[in-house]
Parts: sequence; structure tokens; C-alpha cells
Amino acid sequence: MLTVPAEETLDALVAVLDEIRLGRSRSRSELIARTGLGRAVVAQRVGELIERGLVREVGYGRSTGGRPPRQLYFHAEAGHVLVADLGATSIDVAVTTLDGRILAHRDEPADIGDGPERCLGRVDQLFAELRSSTRDLPGELWGIGIGVPGPVEFRTGTPVSPPIMPGWDGYPVRARFAAAYDTPVWVDNDVNLLCLGEWRSGAAVGHDNVVVIKVGTGIGAGIISDGRLHRGAQGSAGDVGHIQVVDERAVICRCGNVGCLEAVAGGAAIGRDGEAVAREGRSERLLAALDQHGQVSAADVARAASYGDPAAVELLEAAGRRIGRMLASVVNFFNPSLIVVGGGVALSGDHLLSATRETVQRRSLPLATRELVISRSSLGGLAGVIGASAMVVDQLFAREHIAHWMAAGGPAGMPEVALAG
Ligand SMILES: [Zn+2]
Repeated sequence: MLTVPAEETLDALVAVLDEIRLGRSRSRSELIARTGLGRAVVAQRVGELIERGLVREVGYGRSTGGRPPRQLYFHAEAGHVLVADLGATSIDVAVTTLDGRILAHRDEPADIGDGPERCLGRVDQLFAELRSSTRDLPGELWGIGIGVPGPVEFRTGTPVSPPIMPGWDGYPVRARFAAAYDTPVWVDNDVNLLCLGEWRSGAAVGHDNVVVIKVGTGIGAGIISDGRLHRGAQGSAGDVGHIQVVDERAVICRCGNVGCLEAVAGGAAIGRDGEAVAREGRSERLLAALDQHGQVSAADVARAASYGDPAAVELLEAAGRRIGRMLASVVNFFNPSLIVVGGGVALSGDHLLSATRETVQRRSLPLATRELVISRSSLGGLAGVIGASAMVVDQLFAREHIAHWMAAGGPAGMPEVALAG
């Protein structure tokens, strides 16, 4: 019978497991060098992780003469994770292994404004489809991760006054899924999950200080500070879309304030301004889009810009410059080594990203931009579900949670693990 390790050994256990599961150490000698733990302690903790089925010793590493070293691997198939990334206009769901490998994925259009009962009911249906259609699902369900397009109080897994999510304020998203699936559940905003995904397996791998900005219908940012996702005191860090960037009282944001970045440079704003351009007769392509759909979207503007439509190009560049000015302030304040730009609007062409990049370089302090890289997100639409999976597994293996399920061999059937710590 395996028991919960003593307090003093738990730190070492988590340190060793993190090294192995994040691919930083592959052997006992690497673990000793990187963790600073003694040889005997590393040997004991590795032995314990193997006994508990979380680590496997497989194959042979590169031989340097003599006996070839065996290599340590995280047992990512010990269980599986269900994740859902809800955007303003889409739902992405996936089932993954414990190292974020996607076993099956579905996405479809959706309207977050339909409210929690309908949106989350649809997530239930998609989860059921994923589970029934995925062959050889590894292990049991170890946890669920949910992303929503608005501020979330991370501690309780509850959306708090989300501007574009009518009916969701205070809705107990975690409690709902924990009760229905009898498993630990974590909830975060979609931008933090995009950030985690890019950091774990996308454009931000290896960087310790990163800003990931998402330009979709709205605008938000996720922050990696000193190698950790920075959520802030209440979980609202990175809400850069509501920084005031213009004084015009005419531009009212959906949050109720005036002059927010999102209200002049987000996807909804670009569509609105594109429609005005069409009505003023300044763009034939946007007028055609207006005639066809009855409105102009950011995607219409991006498409017109890709054909060289001057008014559409100017709209995207103006948005890019405004985003760049905000980011220049962030760069001066936070000094990241990398900015990753993601979200449907940013990824739909080069005009917005180029204008953003140029403005950040011009307006930030030279020391802050000397080694600064600004790149586009590399996981595209999958970053959110990959990030949600990383959130769940990071939480399961966190120091404050692991002791609560370790003796049982896994967290399946233990929804209270998410509340521990
Ligand atoms: Zn606002």
C-alpha cells in the first residue's frame, strides 16, 4: 500500500517529477545537477515515482562508452484530460494525454452570449462524442480544464463580471463540471490558456518572461513572469484590452468605459470601422461584403486587405499601431524577452502584426527592445486546448495538490483535489 510521502520529501518529489515531465532531465545524473538534491534523495524519489506509475525507465540513451544510461520518462498515458476552450464565437474541445498530446479535437462556431446552460451543455455533448470516438483512451479521467473569454477568479473557477458573457457572472463553472464528472476541474480565461499553450509547446518555449497578446473579437494578454504564469491577486492580470488609449468620448467600450484599446483596435472595432468605410464609399470590396452579409466583420477587412484594398490596409495598420503603443508601455514596464501575438484577427494577415512590431520597436526603450522578439503564435487555434491541458496537469502535480491524491494512485473520482491547498 502506497502512502502519502512525508512533508519533507514532497518538495523533492515534485521537483524531480517536474524535471522529468517537462523534459528538462532524462537521467538521475541530470536530476542531481539540475535540482541540487543529493544522489540518494534523487534515487529514492525516482524509485517512488516509478513505483507509483508516474515515471518509466525505458530504452537506452546515447552511449558514451561503457554501460548505456537508461532514460526517465513521464508516464503521460497514466490518465487523460478533457478540455474546452470557449471563445466569443467558437468552442474547441479536446481529449489529451497528461503531457498535452491531443488525442482527438473538435471545433465549431458558438455564441458565448447564449449563456452558460446552453454553451456548457454543448460542451457536455462534445465531451461525450470525444470519449466515445477515441480508441484506447489512456487510463481514467484525471481532470477537466475550461477556458472562457472573460475574467475568471481562478481560486473558485468562477467568471467575474465578464463584459461579453451575459448570464455568466458568478456562474459556478468549476462546481458544475466537478459534480457532473466527479473529477478535479480548473477554469481560467482563454488568454491565459493561449499563453500557457504557447509557453509549454509553442512559440514561447524556453522563455521565462513573455507577454502573449490575443487579438480576436476582444483584446487580452497572458503573462509569463520569471517562469510562471502570472494571474495577479484576483486573476485579472493582463486585461490590457481595457487600458484607455484614446480620449474620444464617442468610443464607448462594451465594459462601459470610454476609449479602451479593445474598443478601437479589437476585431469588433475593426469590423465596425470597416462598415463605416463601406458606407462612405471608400472601399468597393468592403461595400461588397456589406451587401452580401448585411455587416462587415474583421475577417472581411482582412480579406480585403489581402487583395491590397487601401482603406482595409489602413484600418488594420491603425489597429496594429494602437496595439503597438500599448505594448510599448508594457515592454518598458515588464521587460519581456518575447511577445507572442495570437488570435484570429492578428493571424489573418501581416498588416496588423507588422504595424504592431514597428510601433513597439520605435516607442520602447532601447535596452528593453535590444533582445526583444515579437513573433506570431505557432499553435494557431490549438493553443487554447493545449494550454488548458497544461493548466490541469500543472495543478494536479503542484505541491499543494499532489499529496491529496497520491495515495489513491491518481485523482480520478476526487473533485475536491481542485479545492485543496
Ligand atoms: Zn473596456
